[in-house]
Amino acid sequence: MEKLYADIIIDIAHEKLDRPFQYRIPETLRETITEGQCVHVPFGAGNTLRKGYVVAIKDTPDWDVEKIKEIMSVAPGGVSIEEKQIRLAAFLKRNYGSTMIQAMKTVLPAKQSVRALEKKTVRLILEKEQAEETLDFCRMKHQTAKARLLEELLQFSCLPYPLITGKLHVSPQTIKTMEKQGMLVVEKESHYRNPVRLQVGNAERKTLSEEQQQIVDRLLKDFDGGKKGTYLLHGITGSGKTEVYMQLIEEILNRGCQAIVLIPEIALTYQTLMRFYSRFGDRVSVLNSTLSAGEKYDQCERAKKGEIQVIIGPRSALFTPFPNIGLIIIDEEHESSYKSENSPKYHARETAQEVARMHGASLLLGSATPSLEAYYRAKQEEYTLFTLERRLTGGTLPAVSVVDLREELRAGNRSIFSRKLQELMSDRLKKKQQIMLFLNRRGYAGFISCRACGHVMKCPHCDVSLSEHRGGRLICHYCGYEQPAVHICPECGSKYISGFRAGTQQIEEKLKELYPEARVLRMDADTTKTKDSYEQILSAFASGEADVLIGTQMIVKGHDFPNVTLVGVLAADLSLSVGDYRSGERTFALLTQAVGRAGRGILPGEAVIQTYQPEHYSVTHAAAQDYEGFYEEEILYRELLRYPPVCNMLAVQIFAGEEKRGEALAQELAALAKSFIDMSEDQQKRLMVIGPAPAAIGKIHDIFRFVFYIKYEKYDRLVEVKDILEEKAATLFSSSEMLQIDFNPVNTF
Ligand code: ADP
Ligand code: ZN
Ligand code: ZN
Repeated sequence: MEKLYADIIIDIAHEKLDRPFQYRIPETLRETITEGQCVHVPFGAGNTLRKGYVVAIKDTPDWDVEKIKEIMSVAPGGVSIEEKQIRLAAFLKRNYGSTMIQAMKTVLPAKQSVRALEKKTVRLILEKEQAEETLDFCRMKHQTAKARLLEELLQFSCLPYPLITGKLHVSPQTIKTMEKQGMLVVEKESHYRNPVRLQVGNAERKTLSEEQQQIVDRLLKDFDGGKKGTYLLHGITGSGKTEVYMQLIEEILNRGCQAIVLIPEIALTYQTLMRFYSRFGDRVSVLNSTLSAGEKYDQCERAKKGEIQVIIGPRSALFTPFPNIGLIIIDEEHESSYKSENSPKYHARETAQEVARMHGASLLLGSATPSLEAYYRAKQEEYTLFTLERRLTGGTLPAVSVVDLREELRAGNRSIFSRKLQELMSDRLKKKQQIMLFLNRRGYAGFISCRACGHVMKCPHCDVSLSEHRGGRLICHYCGYEQPAVHICPECGSKYISGFRAGTQQIEEKLKELYPEARVLRMDADTTKTKDSYEQILSAFASGEADVLIGTQMIVKGHDFPNVTLVGVLAADLSLSVGDYRSGERTFALLTQAVGRAGRGILPGEAVIQTYQPEHYSVTHAAAQDYEGFYEEEILYRELLRYPPVCNMLAVQIFAGEEKRGEALAQELAALAKSFIDMSEDQQKRLMVIGPAPAAIGKIHDIFRFVFYIKYEKYDRLVEVKDILEEKAATLFSSSEMLQIDFNPVNTF
């Protein structure tokens, strides 16, 4: 393609993003011009010179050639913050497939002025001694929320109101009561400041262990020597990762750079936040979903101006417009929330690598259960691997029992709770210790399994489970293989073969039948519909208002509950059977986390994993807390079937209002993709097209969905194939039909 015309956005204020103007590219610039570049152009009737950003380059004009003006020059000087952001948007568009406008909206904060916000803070007004006495009294009376707040105020004397009602789980009513009782005052502040007013650096610094110090030294030595690499820190919860992060951030700030810390929102607990605040004070800011668009914009402005140097937040914090980023940290890097669900469906890990490249920053990934991607790259020496093996917090790893549910059925126990779990639950309830029951239930559970032998109906071609569709037909969502419903287990002949349908609500009912006196809380999609309900439930459980917390994956993350000494995992293999190549990895991570919830405090913990597949490597290695062992088996499977990270995979989704038409479009595009197969390549290396098939949820809002997958080692080549498919779709599809691209999807469709 010849670079003849450029679409240029004049002002990157959000509202005008949708209106690019076209300019001619002068000969002298044709070689060098790139998407994202900042240029000077004549604009408007008076042809005043304005700054603009190139968002697309074309070889044919969209307008009357006579009326197209010419670009004046490339803006002089280094790459500005804005230019870096536009280039990042171009990266997203190119690598993940989306329009430039969508990509820019992802990267740039919505421009909105912030109205004067009223910030409330809570200040302790009791003298230290009085406060300590009151604290003892509250503890004695089991007023745990009050005690929790007093403890924190004794340490920090003044805290932001939303932090208390949010992350600390203390209700507004409790605060009000305490105010009436003369313990504290709620103060209002009418202009915006950093949420926490703490003296910078008043936190005591831990002396790093030898292992921790070695990691810090190594990364800094590379950094100072001009080598900006990617590092993976593998360490169980409590092994001191966060302490390493904080030391590195401090060193990076001392070098005049800024740092970005990504933490999944659900894992961003009060304790973690306060550790960062008390170490970095005003220099740190937090980005989260409760901030309004105006507040987010305000934070970006402060980042640009250098008023803050550290930002903590979920995925989107990656786009904070710092002038000179030195370090990016991604904690819990295996979390699927790092992949965007909206177009562009970028992954924070790879995008962070690009940001780091642009700024000359180091990238540090941390996890107790690294993603296969990260560990694979570490093994390939693309990333540098660090390991922290010891738990520094004390607290012992729980003793784990794996219960075979098939044996329970054989022994005549048809309850959801195994005999072992019942025995331990009775014991804990008697001792007034807390229990967490975790139902592993990801997405829908449309698969079919045998309760007598555990056999799961799988696709003979893809080794993923078949999904039950209306009318009982079983379908593979990778390749479209189909077979009729089964009523008798092909493995053992039992008639107990069906879909698994128990939900958290049934578990709650069964539990109440068994233990009518137990106080039970339930957390799932139904009980967390309102904005604060998630925090409220955790708060109630933390205060000891319940004996048992039942929940889905939401309960296995974040918060520490020191009084929990038993974790029960019901139907551990539900997520194994979701028709998805990542189900083993996901199950291993979930089980490891769930098991790790028990025994965080002084009391030792126990965990019970109930499963139909006690021999499955995801289960056995999670029970043994053995990551390495799990990785070795999982990577073999990925190699054999050419799944990421060994291979790259592109999911192509087609949406159409008419079923036949959608299917035809999918067929045509898949055929086009197949034309890129190079027969001279080794069969094990060749580009592969799988499908098309109806998507797992084949129809939403009367729109039919089809999907096919392309697998190939060479990422760049896949990007080219994607571009060609998009071009083809532009000519084939009507305005109501849509193509959606997803590189190395976290979920399959
Ligand atoms: P992770 O992030 O891996 O879960 P943390 O950094 O939170 O681990 O450390 C776990 C606990 O150990 C924290 O309470 C922390 O304060 C403490 N800790 C970490 N490093 C040290 C150290 N070098 N000396 C003493 N305590 C430490
Ligand atoms: Zn069977
Ligand atoms: Zn299949």
